Amino acid sequence: MIEIKAPHSLSIEEIFTESKSSDDGISQEIADIRVQQFGPNILPSKPPTGVVAIFARQFLNPLIYILFSASILSLTLGDESDAIFIGLVLLINAIIGTIQESGAEKSAHALKQMSATICRVERDGEVMQLDSSYLVPGDLVLLESGNKVPADLRLIHSHGLEIDESLLTGESLAVHKLATESYDENTALGDRKNMAFSGSMVTRGRGRGIVTSTGLNTELGKIASSLSYSEDSKPPLVIRMERFTKNIAIFFVIITAFIALILLLKGEGWHEVLMLSVALAVSAIPEGLPVALTIALSIAGRRMAKRNVIVRKLPAVEALGSCSMVATDKTGTLTVNQMTIKKIAIPGNQEFLVPGSGLTPEGEIHREDQPAYSEELARLRPLLETGVLCNESKLIQKDGIWQGHGDAVDLSFLVLAYKGEVIPEDVLDRYKLICEIPFEPENQYSAAMHAEAGTHIISIKGAVEKLLPLCDEMLTLDGPKTINTHDINKQAEELASAGYRVLALANKTYETFLEDEACDLNFHLEKLTFLGLVAMIDPLRNDTVEAVKQCQSAGIELAMITGDHPKTAFAIASELGFASDIKEVITGPELKLKEAQHRTDIIAQAKVFARVEPAQKLEIVQSLIKNGQYVAVTGDGANDAPALKMANVGIAMGKSGTDVAKETADLIITDDHFASIVAGIEEGRIAYNNIRKVVYLLISTGMAEVVLFILSIIANIPMPLTAVQLLWLNLVTNGIQDVGLAFEPGEGDELSKPPRKPGERIFDRPMLERIILTAVVMGLISFFYFHYLVRTGMEINMARNLTLLLMVLFENIMIANCRSETKSAFSINPFNNKILLFGTIGAQLLHIGVLYTPGINKVLGVMPVSFADWLLLLGLAISILVVMEIYKLIRR
Ligand code: ADP
Ligand code: MG
Repeated sequence: MIEIKAPHSLSIEEIFTESKSSDDGISQEIADIRVQQFGPNILPSKPPTGVVAIFARQFLNPLIYILFSASILSLTLGDESDAIFIGLVLLINAIIGTIQESGAEKSAHALKQMSATICRVERDGEVMQLDSSYLVPGDLVLLESGNKVPADLRLIHSHGLEIDESLLTGESLAVHKLATESYDENTALGDRKNMAFSGSMVTRGRGRGIVTSTGLNTELGKIASSLSYSEDSKPPLVIRMERFTKNIAIFFVIITAFIALILLLKGEGWHEVLMLSVALAVSAIPEGLPVALTIALSIAGRRMAKRNVIVRKLPAVEALGSCSMVATDKTGTLTVNQMTIKKIAIPGNQEFLVPGSGLTPEGEIHREDQPAYSEELARLRPLLETGVLCNESKLIQKDGIWQGHGDAVDLSFLVLAYKGEVIPEDVLDRYKLICEIPFEPENQYSAAMHAEAGTHIISIKGAVEKLLPLCDEMLTLDGPKTINTHDINKQAEELASAGYRVLALANKTYETFLEDEACDLNFHLEKLTFLGLVAMIDPLRNDTVEAVKQCQSAGIELAMITGDHPKTAFAIASELGFASDIKEVITGPELKLKEAQHRTDIIAQAKVFARVEPAQKLEIVQSLIKNGQYVAVTGDGANDAPALKMANVGIAMGKSGTDVAKETADLIITDDHFASIVAGIEEGRIAYNNIRKVVYLLISTGMAEVVLFILSIIANIPMPLTAVQLLWLNLVTNGIQDVGLAFEPGEGDELSKPPRKPGERIFDRPMLERIILTAVVMGLISFFYFHYLVRTGMEINMARNLTLLLMVLFENIMIANCRSETKSAFSINPFNNKILLFGTIGAQLLHIGVLYTPGINKVLGVMPVSFADWLLLLGLAISILVVMEIYKLIRR
């Protein structure tokens, strides 16, 4: 077994010997053996809360304390049956709560597990993608900006590598790394610049490193136990509901105390009054609300996962529902991110066409209506070779199928080379790479220097605006000439206006070259020869058009933020129909020139932000929010993190997104489709509506009971229900069916309404109207019914028995009212929410079962009821459906 001590003090040679590795990595066989020796490269994660803990948590509730004290009081007063019953109800309540919550907990945990980290390693000289948990010491890991470092690495190569190690050192500035250095053994963690530590984030550059330790042996592993797992924050809605429940509780404790006083003055026994007060408080206080909300949100999370949206932070579900704007990336989100070069334009207004699409390098470069001459192809050669040299991707043929690894833009150049009869491997064999500037979005170009037979060649490709100022010559069909930027710009604009992504290429050759150690390429990027332009297409995803339409009908504004050329961006935005005037396009450089106070307005007007540097994205998002938008923002790069954090909803791309983006985002879109964001918004809206439905049910039925009791006191008749009956009604029967509402599948019109205003109250006017109407109608009918029974001389226990059944039926029927705020209950398919249907029927059957169960029926003070009576009560209960149907009709 190998052990690498103080790897930062070793030289690169020593690290290879110590780890028995090489510049090609270790072999697969050794990796397999070492995985057995060292175990998986993982840190123990916080386990999901156990069932027992969840069960225990059910009793940590002031209301439960009150009930407990009440039952103990009953015991001391010799009333065992009440005490036993309260105990039983509490138990059932806790069991229901546990089942619901542990389900929610499990799915939340499962969702988090879905985003495993993948890293790139080289084994036997072959680069592959690997789940980081399989990494072993000696593995050769490739790093690029946006990666999360998967294990502790001794760097053997670094290029402009900067790593954010704040997790370990608290230092928020990224550290510049240098593979070539070695340090004293006692050097502080933050100064070991030849190391990359597990868990830190690559913010810039590229690097290669040998794994020195994995799992718990890494620097992160050593402090893992002291790292506080950040508690999952509660969704703001749940916090609001908890606060609301508390306020309502205080209010009703006061009212109940008042009622209790009246009852005591009327000469009722104080034990009975106490029990009743407790029961009344239970009816009025919607203690099940926060739990039901959490469940509704977690169900939404599960549904979103089915639609390729992974919720990393539960509050995002609610936030997504109130999005008024989506600021999206173009490449890869609206489009498929599969670039195909379709045209080559070289100086002198010469255009070549390139057939084919995708990664299959078939087809020949040709002229408009004839094949290209061989001299012309020869002239294209420097351009094609530049595209190959200045390239980080790999195109391979496996079992007859062409596969690409790496950047889509880079790949398109490899495909192009084949089509122009340039074999990339041959080119790369001939030239030796000296140094390179890898592509980073903020640069908008990539460059490389190679050596060949004594000469040195600089190759560069990237945005036209970036390259032209560096060139002084251009290569035409008749040889080099002084550059004519005006014509080239015109050519580029024309291509961009047609929706092509346009890249320029340039190079320069040194016949004699002074070796310099540092090899700062930037120093050589001048007096280049412009070689030509390429125009590539990146087709729209097939579901983008539909999704954009859905956004528009849902009242959600769209903005595109891209690093691409304004004309290209506009062409795509207008094809999608969310921009119609070039004035709606603003570029990053233009924005920089505007004065600060005007920027917010300018940003508010724009639909397309082009040539935006990643750092500017933050400002754009900030301004949009300042303008009152509730913004969802997509991002994939290392530099998108601040914007993702700033956004109301930060969305990372699952496939193309970097680890950095994924770790900061609230949501991850697993398939990178824009359409999935829209699906998420739809689910978010459904979740919010379902929450309203639960709130309506719980509050209105609770209020109805309060109305019934207050009227009875005023009418000076006995209490309509006993304490245990009220508990049964609220915690058991209603407690079973209310959760069903959280499973409502949505009414289908969620995306045809404007977004709800953020901060809009749940208790808006329609909600209050419906609650008051329901409570009054239900309360009055049950009161008059009970009043009638008592006045006609019915025995009080039987009268209560019937009234309780009526209330249970009322609550069953109420479910039908709750399913839509505006639509008729009859227009909704009862079978599209089976949990709700069976929950409601189950609640009724349970109650009927109890009527016939000896023992329990005695405690509950209930007895069987004739079928005729049951039908009569059902008829009475249906009144609430009729009333609400009429109300909805008027509202419509
Ligand atoms: P987007 O927002 O569409 O993802 P990028 O930031 O990827 O835009 O690209 C911005 C610009 O950088 C492109 O218009 C192009 O000119 C240039 N560019 C993109 N990819 C590469 C690459 N691999 N090599 C060189 N230049 C590139
Ligand atoms: Mg890009």
